[in-house]
Amino acid sequence: MRYKPNYAPGPTDVRENVRLARAKRTNNSDFDKTFVRYYREVSQKMGQVMGTTNEVLLLVGEGILALEAACASLTEPGDRVLVLDNGIYGEGFKDFVSIYGGVPVVLSFDHRSGIPAEAVRAYLEKDSDFKYATLVHCDTPTSVLNNVTELCPLLKEYGILTVVDSVAGMVGEPISVDANKIDICCGGTQKAISAPVGLAIVSVSEDAQKAMDNRKTPIASFYANLQVFKGYAEKEYLPYTTSAGDVAALDAALDNILEEGIEAVYARHDRIASAVREAAQAYGLALFLDSDRSNTVTAIRIPEEIGALRLQEHLSENYDLLVATSLAQYADVILRIGHMGENAFIDKLIYVLAIVDNGLRDLGFAGKGDLAQLFIAIYKENN
Ligand SMILES: *Cc1c(COP(=O)(O)O)cnc(C)c1O
Repeated sequence: MRYKPNYAPGPTDVRENVRLARAKRTNNSDFDKTFVRYYREVSQKMGQVMGTTNEVLLLVGEGILALEAACASLTEPGDRVLVLDNGIYGEGFKDFVSIYGGVPVVLSFDHRSGIPAEAVRAYLEKDSDFKYATLVHCDTPTSVLNNVTELCPLLKEYGILTVVDSVAGMVGEPISVDANKIDICCGGTQKAISAPVGLAIVSVSEDAQKAMDNRKTPIASFYANLQVFKGYAEKEYLPYTTSAGDVAALDAALDNILEEGIEAVYARHDRIASAVREAAQAYGLALFLDSDRSNTVTAIRIPEEIGALRLQEHLSENYDLLVATSLAQYADVILRIGHMGENAFIDKLIYVLAIVDNGLRDLGFAGKGDLAQLFIAIYKENN
């Protein structure tokens, strides 16, 4: 397989020191106590980056496992769960809830803006009988960003636990799990953390732990059961053999983030994302969203006569470039430029925008100026 430059919103580029860390020899990751201690250290470092002192678990699996484990571990048959939907992943939570016997109540909002807290409050005034609520931090297919700082404390006010999918948000956008009172926050290693695909991340609050402890029925899953980790640090025993290389890679990626400083990492994402959005518009393209846009990905509307799927294929065939379109009803409408983690650097954006510009022109789009030049000029002006 030949290496191909990748500018999709995940998996992202992995820095060399992270790749090398993954290749090192490790202790037995099934039952060596020194490995269990190391796992604990890395999970606490992960917690530091997420802004939490809650227990953080690193599950061997892709990010989706975090979402499924949260729902499997909290849901009991008949539990009502409020599914806040303003995007593909947001709506998707209803399936996890139903699979585990819960009753999802989907509250849908416009996919083109963040979930309005006031509308949620008005709904909760009438009905707040929910065990937990699910929402997505950055709903990647459309790039919409939800205000977890407003929404999660609001749900908590009504005694509702929160499960937040921040797989494509954390590290690129502030998440502050403790300050925002998030009960289970889900992440993955392959987005803005910029470690290889392989670990799913979940932080578990005391309230979420209590809800699991107080279940009347057993958790209807074997591998997606978070309770099997309970007390692992005291027992110095992990329930399953962990992929030690993935833990070491995550450790190195977190060190990269902490060395730059988490605030500086957020600021870098903001500088890059703002310039990409402004450049696309100056060039004559429309963004999918007018507001509430995540700094981790830009969703650009591709004119109907070109089509996002045809543009993607053209870029791949002719320029050896991988960019993403979207999913479901947006697949042919949106082209997504990922700028997460290691991909949120100016040189990478100049490269990808120059090629997108070429591809669009090949297919008959009359851009106003040069997309990469516009990006550089705007970036310089803003900073
Ligand atoms: C990437 C992503 C996940 C992880 O799942 P994939 O299999 O990579 O789709 C979960 N949630 C969101 C919002 C994501 O962007």
